[in-house]
Amino acid sequence: MPRPLTATIHVDSMQHNLQRARICAPASKIWAVVKANAYGHGLELGMQGFALADGLALIETDNAVRLRALGWIKPILLLEGIFDPTDVALLAEHNIDSAVHCIEQIKMLEYTQLYRPIDVHLKMNTGMNRLGFLPDEYAAAYARLRAIPGIRHITLMTHFANADELEHPRLKIVEQVRRFRLGAAGLLGERSLSNSGGVLQQSVLGDELASDWVRPGIMLYGGTPGGKTAHEFGLRPTMTLASEIIGIQQLQSGDSVGYGSSFQATAPMPVGVVACGYADGYPRHAPHGTPVIVDGVRTTLVGRVSMDMMTVDLSPIPNARVGSKVTLWGDGLPIDEVANAAGTIGYELMCAVAPRVRVQEGRLGTNG
Ligand SMILES: *Cc1c(COP(=O)(O)O)cnc(C)c1O
Repeated sequence: MPRPLTATIHVDSMQHNLQRARICAPASKIWAVVKANAYGHGLELGMQGFALADGLALIETDNAVRLRALGWIKPILLLEGIFDPTDVALLAEHNIDSAVHCIEQIKMLEYTQLYRPIDVHLKMNTGMNRLGFLPDEYAAAYARLRAIPGIRHITLMTHFANADELEHPRLKIVEQVRRFRLGAAGLLGERSLSNSGGVLQQSVLGDELASDWVRPGIMLYGGTPGGKTAHEFGLRPTMTLASEIIGIQQLQSGDSVGYGSSFQATAPMPVGVVACGYADGYPRHAPHGTPVIVDGVRTTLVGRVSMDMMTVDLSPIPNARVGSKVTLWGDGLPIDEVANAAGTIGYELMCAVAPRVRVQEGRLGTNG
């Protein structure tokens, strides 16, 4: 028997969440973001779940090519663009769109003969200060791209730093939009603005965020960038990480458990050993009290997470036994809640699921 730890991917939930994004931004085309192996869900399953998206966006050039090999015929976008002059040929060969965020990338495009036209997405830095041209450099970058014969459409693109927090004291989303409008004034091309945070704000900001394209990621995987919960946004979990109890210990008052003996029982209690550890992607820094579900009952992590195992309080589940089902996150336990308890975000948990974890497909509510 394989180890009982599995990540069940709910392709039907991915379809549902994509539909939620459509409802939030009905006038926009959707790039479903499938970077980082579809946020840990697997590229093939991402492609299946988002078959109705208008395009797939990602970071990794090899996976962009792989999407073509897997049969994806709609647009593909490289969100960080190309990394090397030799990547230019790859764009033309596989009909892949590329972000252009710096002068070095423009030079790569200028120096390489394109034997087939390509579409690019010119990125503006509107305050995030990661990638892109400043608003007052933008028109010049646009003109330089426009002068390259092999370039067809230029989409105007920016990225929001605080889309989940409208009243952010340092950088408000409306301020980024204002800078974007200023820098893009008079330039021809479609506009691409919102990540999940922006998509989920459309009901509040409406026209302010209107754009031809949106680029949701986390919301399609049933997580939120912040603000309300996934459930309140009508999103469903797309990944359930589940395992089983593989051992039970009866602690006496004063006994401790695991490395560092960091948890000490103050009364007799049963502790279950779960086949899941940090080598599987479960965060090692998750503290006592992080929620887990055993046999349908909520309980908590106790003691330190080790490489292959973690330990949970079985006091609320007196009938638990070796083989009892454990949900680490997903169905019945929002990933954002586990992430919050562990001092991280749902994004990181999804992306960190390790290669040794068995991945299977299954509908929500039918696994275990
Ligand atoms: C990752 C990414 C997104 C998606 O962000 P979410 O917060 O997951 O919705 C959108 N745009 C760009 C440029 C990205 O890199």
